[in-house]
Amino acid sequence: MNCITEKQKCTGCGACVDICPKGCVSIALDDDGFLVSEIDESICINCMKCRKVCPSLVLPRMNPIKRILSASAKDKTILAESSSGGMFTVIAKYALDKGGVVYGAQFDDNLNCVHASTDNISGISPMRGSKYIGSNLAGIYKSVKNDLAKGIFVLFSGTPCQNAALSNYLGKDYDNLLAVDFLCHGVGSTRLFNAYIRFLETKYGSKAKTAYFRKKRKNFLQPNFKVEFQNGKSYTDYNYLNVFGSNFANRKNIKSSCNRCAFSSKDRATDFTIGDYGLKNVFRFPNWKSGVSVITLNTKKAQRVFNVVKEEISGEEKRREETVCIISTLNRRNLSDEIRDKFFAVVKSVGFDAFVETNYKVSFIRKRKYMYTFFLRRVSSMLPMSVKRVLKSWLLNR
Ligand SMILES: Cc1cc2nc3c(=O)[nH]c(=O)nc-3n(C[C@H](O)[C@H](O)[C@H](O)COP(=O)(O)OP(=O)(O)OC[C@H]3O[C@@H](n4cnc5c(N)ncnc54)[C@H](O)[C@@H]3O)c2cc1C
Ligand code: SF4
Ligand code: SF4
Ligand code: SF4
Repeated sequence: MNCITEKQKCTGCGACVDICPKGCVSIALDDDGFLVSEIDESICINCMKCRKVCPSLVLPRMNPIKRILSASAKDKTILAESSSGGMFTVIAKYALDKGGVVYGAQFDDNLNCVHASTDNISGISPMRGSKYIGSNLAGIYKSVKNDLAKGIFVLFSGTPCQNAALSNYLGKDYDNLLAVDFLCHGVGSTRLFNAYIRFLETKYGSKAKTAYFRKKRKNFLQPNFKVEFQNGKSYTDYNYLNVFGSNFANRKNIKSSCNRCAFSSKDRATDFTIGDYGLKNVFRFPNWKSGVSVITLNTKKAQRVFNVVKEEISGEEKRREETVCIISTLNRRNLSDEIRDKFFAVVKSVGFDAFVETNYKVSFIRKRKYMYTFFLRRVSSMLPMSVKRVLKSWLLNR
C-alpha cells in the first residue's frame, strides 16, 4: 500500500486518518517499527483532503518564540513525577481549573503509546513522562475539534509534528485551545521497544504493567528506564545505556522523518514549547537535580496563561544565546539516514528479539564511561571561560 506523502517524510501523526471521508487511510507500523500512513486506493475518491491536512506537505502558520525561561514546579510531587521541571502538569492544571480537558500521550494496558484525554487531575498522571516512541492519535483530531466546537477549553500536548497536524486539521484559530509541544529529538522504534519489553517479561516471568523512560534517579539528567510487572517486581537501568535508549540517543534508533524535521525550528505551531533545561548551564541552579524545564512563550495567549501560573513556578528569564538546550534541537531538517538505515538493516537481519537478546547487556566499562563523562561535563560547566581556554590549549599542545 502507498503512503500519502513520501514514506520517509511521514511523521505518523495520523491526521489523514481522521480527515478521510471514506475511511481509506490507516496507520500501521512499518518494518523498522515506526507509525506511517497507508492508503487503500481502491476506495479513495481523490478528494485530496488528506494531502491538505498532512504537515509534511503543508506547514501551518508558525509563531516565533517570544520569551524563553527556565522553570521548575514548586510542587515537589509534580517535580518528582515529571521528566524535567513539571511544566506540562502546571499548564494542564490551569486547563482543568477552567473546566477543560487535557490531551496527552500515555501507555494503554498493553503498553501501546496512545493519545488520550482527561478532565480530572488523576488522569494527568499517566500522561506525565516522556515516552520515546510514536503515539497513535487515531480519532484524537476529531475529538479535539468536537470539544472545541462545544466551547470546552482544550489543552493539547504532543510532538511538534502532531501539533502542526492539529493546526492543519482545525484550519482556524480557537480561543479555547492551548497547544503545547516540546523540544524534540525524535521518536524511537516501537518494534525495538516491544522486543525489549518481551525480553524483560520473559526474564521476570510476568506481564509488564507500565514503563518509564525518564524515572528520576539521583538527578533528572541521568534518568532511569523502569518497568513495573504485574507480579510486583520491577526492573531499572540507566535510560541512555540500554539497548533501546543508547541507540536512541545516538540517533540510530530514530524515525526517518525525524532526520528531516520541519517542525523543530525557532517558529512553533504551538502556544508553549517545553524541554529539558540545557546540560551546560543547568548546574548553576541550586536544585537542578530535581529537574529544570525550559519553557518558551510563543503567543500572546501563552503570555496570558503564564501570568496566571507563574506563582506555581520558580524560574527566570533567559537570553536566547544561553539556551543551549533549544539550539541543540533545532535544524534537524537535513540529517543523513545512513547510520539509522545501517542499524535497522542489522536489527532486521537477525530479528528484533534476537537483537535485544544479544545486545541488552551494557558493559561495566561503558557504564563507568557514562558516569565519568557526565562528571567531567559538570566540572567543566563550572569553570570560568578563561580557565577552559587555557586547559584546551594545553590539551591540544600536549
Ligand atoms: C519523543 C520525545 C523527544 C524529546 N526530545 C527532547 C529533546 O531532544 N530535548 C529536550 O530538551 N526535550 C525533549 N523532550 C521533552 C522532555 O523529555 C520533557 O517532556 C520536557 O522537558 C517537559 O518536561 P515536563 O517535566 O513538563 O514533562 P512531563 O510531565 O514529563 O510531560 C511530558 C509531556 O509530553 C507528552 N508526551 C510524552 N511522550 C510523548 C510522545 N511519545 N508523543 C507525544 N507526546 C508525548 C505527554 O503527553 C506530556 O504532555 C522530548 C520528549 C519526547 C516525548
Ligand atoms: S484523497 Fe480523500 S478519499 Fe482519498 S485517501 Fe485522501 S482523504 Fe481519503
Ligand atoms: S498526515 Fe501525518 S500520518 Fe498522514 S501522511 Fe501526512 S505525516 Fe503521515
Ligand atoms: S523530530 Fe520532528 S518529525 Fe520526529 S517526532 Fe519530533 S517533531 Fe515529529
